Amino acid sequence: MSTLFLRTLRDDPADAEVPSHKLLVRAGYVRRVAPGVYSWLPLGLRVLRAVENIVREEMNSIGAQEILLPALLPREPYETTARWTEYGDNLFRVKDRKGTDMLLGPTHEEIFAQLVKSEYSSYKDLPVILYQIQTKYRDEERPRAGILRGREFVMKDSYSFDLDDDGLKASYIAHRDAYQRIFARLAVRYVIVAATSGAMGGSASEEFLAESEVGEDTFVRCLESGYAANVEAVVTPAPEPIPFDGLAEAQVHETPDTTTIETLVAWANDALDGTFDAADTLKNVMVKVREPGGEWELLGIGVPGNREIDVKRLEASLEPAEVELLTEADFAANSFLVKGYIGPKALQENGVRYLVDPRVVDGTAWITGADQPNRHVVGLVAGRDFTVDGTIEAAEILDGDLSPDGKGPLVAAKGIEIGHIFQLGQKYTNAFEVDVLGESGKPVRLTMGSYGVGVSRLVAVIAEQQHDDKGLRWPAEVAPYDVHLVIANKDEAAIGGATSLAEELDAAGLDVLLDDRKSSPGVKFKDAELLGMPTVVVVGRGYANGVVEVRDRFTGESAEVPVDNAVSAIVAAVRG
Ligand code: ATP
Ligand code: MG
Repeated sequence: MSTLFLRTLRDDPADAEVPSHKLLVRAGYVRRVAPGVYSWLPLGLRVLRAVENIVREEMNSIGAQEILLPALLPREPYETTARWTEYGDNLFRVKDRKGTDMLLGPTHEEIFAQLVKSEYSSYKDLPVILYQIQTKYRDEERPRAGILRGREFVMKDSYSFDLDDDGLKASYIAHRDAYQRIFARLAVRYVIVAATSGAMGGSASEEFLAESEVGEDTFVRCLESGYAANVEAVVTPAPEPIPFDGLAEAQVHETPDTTTIETLVAWANDALDGTFDAADTLKNVMVKVREPGGEWELLGIGVPGNREIDVKRLEASLEPAEVELLTEADFAANSFLVKGYIGPKALQENGVRYLVDPRVVDGTAWITGADQPNRHVVGLVAGRDFTVDGTIEAAEILDGDLSPDGKGPLVAAKGIEIGHIFQLGQKYTNAFEVDVLGESGKPVRLTMGSYGVGVSRLVAVIAEQQHDDKGLRWPAEVAPYDVHLVIANKDEAAIGGATSLAEELDAAGLDVLLDDRKSSPGVKFKDAELLGMPTVVVVGRGYANGVVEVRDRFTGESAEVPVDNAVSAIVAAVRG
């Protein structure tokens, strides 16, 4: 350590909010160069390389072949798939000296598809899985938490090419299994969540989310069944329809100044028999929707009044169409829309598409707008008094909602995306006409999967999940060094003994960080805790009595070990 390129900091960096960011900077693992752009210093680079190698070993174990593509890429292939524009402001676009457009790769589906097209021509060549561990560029709107969300970051991206859907599924499962092994070796706590509601087939896309309070992804889980899903992917269990017989007639009421759900519920409890809450009202939210290449069209969405619209769920349900809220001008142009009093009837009569939450089944009775100022209708029955054009998953998920598998309530949790597996199908192979000659002599269009792991992000995720109030704590598989050997004794014999102990541990195959600095023992102990090697060995006062101390950074436990026996005891502690 007397020569190691390392300066630890006593204070948290001013721009850091999350623990992993503070600690990785304070412990001298990374340094900021620009927002979302970081340098890796010696200790940090060793962790990054360790993560990379675990990812590499597990990818190789499923027969994936490593290659390396450039990060600097031509515009044309991304123009072919429209991602040059669709990627929006996240894409780093550059011009070369001749004024030709280029980009810094955010992900490489295009280039891999082109590569396989140019190299392979026969069904006999398939299947193939190619991958790279490479630096990616995305001009993130909010780079955050140091290396957790960078604008330059390291990703493992792989791409599978298969002749048919069964092949694609097999490649997908192989990746899923490999990812589980990777994250187990990295000692990351994570869940696998369905990323889409299955419109493209059951498990077309899943995300691996590391459990963390500082995560930006919200998912829901059912603790009883283990079900976990992105909020976008949750399918609301629909109740059974209710027979109409015996349901009261709908009645229009004067309801002055009730443009909000709150005021409406207060009116109902005042004016009607019984007790009502927001879930008894039907709130109709107006948006406009545009299919690709189409015109803007009105869409009414009916949700129980105790729920807001969840924009992410709404967008995911309507994809690939765009969706926007109505402007004042839109309301003015559609005078049948009486703000605050919109009901299903005016929508139906004016040909506006009307989709409802799956809870709005036939026979359910609602308090909802009567399409006139200061009027609501009570007891409007779905299927009897109004019909709908279908259901939509757009309402927010609330804690306590029933899990889609019916086994218990859902609770919300936060996570950080560490991996993503995706059955792309033929989107890219169609764009580039990636065909091979099939067994029958006819061309076969290949089908593709794409799979990512956030390699540099994982360094922060591990730090985030494993740290304590004293500093970092690295699991054995990724620790920069196995042993942090602290010389806490000025005595020449002790210094000599510590140095030869370090050499013997090194010869026994352990990586040793030797703190041979002139600093005080207190400073050295604090640094050892901050830096986070799993085993700390102290050659201190006890050396004169023939013992050294072996500390476990995870449990905090320490034991005295005879010097003569130290090497085998430490090897045993490390290999535990
Ligand atoms: P996010 O939702 O976090 O923005 P993403 O869905 O854009 O991620 P993918 O395109 O699926 O991410 O990329 C594959 C993996 O790369 C992600 O699972 C994540 O671990 C990692 N990753 C994505 N963006 C970043 C970033 N800005 N910094 C660090 N790692 C990232
Ligand atoms: Mg993703």
